[in-house]
Amino acid sequence: MKPSQRIESIDFSGVRKMFELVKEDSISLALGEPDFDTPTNIKDAVKKALDKNLTHYTSNQGILELREAIAEKLKRDNHLETSPENIIVTVGASEALLMATQALVENGDEVIIPDPGFVSYGAYVNLAGGTNVPVKVKEEDEFRLTPENVMEHVNQNTKAILMNSPNNPTGGVLKKEDVKGLAEIAQDHDLVIFSDEIYEKIIYGAKHYSPGRYTENVITINGFSKAYAMTGFRIGYTSAPSELLEPLLKVHQYSTACASSLSQAAALEALTGPQDSVGMMVNELKRRRDLVVERINLMGIKCKKPRGAYYLFPHVDDPELFVVQALEKGVVLVPGSSFGSHGEGHFRLSYAASYSDLEECMDRLESLIK
Ligand code: PMP
Repeated sequence: MKPSQRIESIDFSGVRKMFELVKEDSISLALGEPDFDTPTNIKDAVKKALDKNLTHYTSNQGILELREAIAEKLKRDNHLETSPENIIVTVGASEALLMATQALVENGDEVIIPDPGFVSYGAYVNLAGGTNVPVKVKEEDEFRLTPENVMEHVNQNTKAILMNSPNNPTGGVLKKEDVKGLAEIAQDHDLVIFSDEIYEKIIYGAKHYSPGRYTENVITINGFSKAYAMTGFRIGYTSAPSELLEPLLKVHQYSTACASSLSQAAALEALTGPQDSVGMMVNELKRRRDLVVERINLMGIKCKKPRGAYYLFPHVDDPELFVVQALEKGVVLVPGSSFGSHGEGHFRLSYAASYSDLEECMDRLESLIK
């Protein structure tokens, strides 16, 4: 039995592969998974939903009350002109990315992706028959996808730009002029922007700008995994222009029918309930970032403080060797090459682990360097 060529053209993510190598006393700094518990008010909302027997299919697009709350949030926080009719509730941002690429990308279409970038982007584009056009995000530009660099790769085959700010794996955050510039490119060249804003709330002293504020040609993608520590709920959403709703809904309907009803109840509470847990989590992540950046620099590995997400992406001479040696010391990291060819020369460290685990990991890495 032969798998399809589509599937043969993609590989498992390097992050997952590293995770499988975790030994018993290893500490994983490999996964993009916050160690915080889901806030109690959200867990209570699920228990209530269960007691009310909200255990059936919902509308394909998602329950109206949740879509209203999402539209409200996008207007308030992101200045987007949207409405509940333009929202589709998805199985995480992951499904939203798959849905957007399947609905819009044709065989031979080129899609610009940041390199280094999130491991899944290339696979989604390939599964849709498209061609990835990796655009280098440079350390000297604070790992920002700049309009100038993107413009060099736009041609008549370009269909879409995949944007991700704050960025995984670098922690880079786009400036207002970057976002505006990329929106202008999309507008002028009739391209669509897939804007993955999953780390929107995990940002330190910088401001998040959504491209959907500057052009209609945007599918905004977001979710609850990161800001509300809800990775296992598998819940996210998109906001899209009216003309794209039907194509997107076709993919969504045939792949998942709808997101889990209980997860939708949880998401509604996440958006409409108290928000203090988000602030507390971000403050704690900032404390962890400051710890690891300081310790890494003391080891002689130069690393600036990233302004968003929960990753460091430092440069070392031989990251493949460094990652293997770190693994022998019981610290799981990911080589930067897993995130694209321009990630070579770097490794990714996720500081979403507990403060004490991070201290222990820094001690272990320090003994390795010595
Ligand atoms: N986009 C990025 C940039 C991510 O890092 C992740 C999760 N690691 C996702 C999307 C997927 O998020 P979700 O759990 O909502 O599917």
